[in-house]
Amino acid sequence: MLPFKLVYSDDYYLPIGAHVFPAEKYRLIHKHLLDAGIAEPGDFVTPKPAHDEDILLVHTREYVQKLKNGTLSAEEELQMEVPYSPELVKAFWLAAGGSILAAGLALREGLAVNVGGGFHHAFPDHGEGFCVIHDVAVAIKRMHQEGKLTRAMTVDLDVHNGNGTAAIFPPRIRHGHPLPSASASRRDIHETPNLEAPHSKDGELEVFTISLHQAHNYPLHKPPSSIDVHLPDGTNDEEYLGWLDQSLSSAFRHFTPELVCYIAGADPYKEDQLGGLALTIEGLKKRDELVLRVARSHNVPVMITYAGGYARRVQDTVIIHCNTVVAAKEVLGSPTSP
Ligand SMILES: [Zn+2]
Repeated sequence: MLPFKLVYSDDYYLPIGAHVFPAEKYRLIHKHLLDAGIAEPGDFVTPKPAHDEDILLVHTREYVQKLKNGTLSAEEELQMEVPYSPELVKAFWLAAGGSILAAGLALREGLAVNVGGGFHHAFPDHGEGFCVIHDVAVAIKRMHQEGKLTRAMTVDLDVHNGNGTAAIFPPRIRHGHPLPSASASRRDIHETPNLEAPHSKDGELEVFTISLHQAHNYPLHKPPSSIDVHLPDGTNDEEYLGWLDQSLSSAFRHFTPELVCYIAGADPYKEDQLGGLALTIEGLKKRDELVLRVARSHNVPVMITYAGGYARRVQDTVIIHCNTVVAAKEVLGSPTSP
């Protein structure tokens, strides 16, 4: 039995036909977690679809109506890059319900994984880049509405910049400079003084956003996160883990979250068809461990979602996502350092 829950439904499958997004990955991950003995059937909990009111915490009424009535324009559907269907909309409402459930479980039990979600390119008024509904933002806003948190941190390690997240939660004060360029050295991470965010009004939601992503990749326009790391093509395990370590240290120096929402994209992998970084499967597991260890050392619960993964062999994507569960199991099972 795992020391945390996995939120999953067979209906996470996205009905998008032959597509670079391997919609079958969710079912394959579920199967592999069981077949490899990483999880047992009792580790899984089944989500319910989000309510429209939850979706409306993030998305505009007009956009939600278009999705529900099937009245997106041709251009809006093209921008989504997944074919519209009522079933597609259902799958995204379910993914959002899964992230709400996972966030609640994480806050109560310390950690939870949504074996889906992480649709970080969705904006309040439109979908793009295979993302229709921003499940993570919906979950954060719902937890805030329930009075369960006022300070959340998103740690987005998908190879693509979390433009939807940054648009929904624009940074109050941006930390330092865009990081790094191909020629940058580790010294280019600046600690700019007096960056402490001003205290929010009582009960107001504050979200600190971190995005480590490939600079030369989608999306073209990258709205600022609290910390952005614009990685050069071909960044390897060691370099990536160095930047991640620095970013997490900086973030926790300036912000004390009550929940970390870790968006664990599988696409920084060197064999990814839509990514240009060079991380190995082992390096990606170390990445997961680092995020989880840092959160644990600060006693902050973590909600994990999966986001992208387009490896040439879909089985590699499956292994990378399953390894995130293995990493969580190992980190939670290890003694806490003093
Ligand atoms: Zn991605």
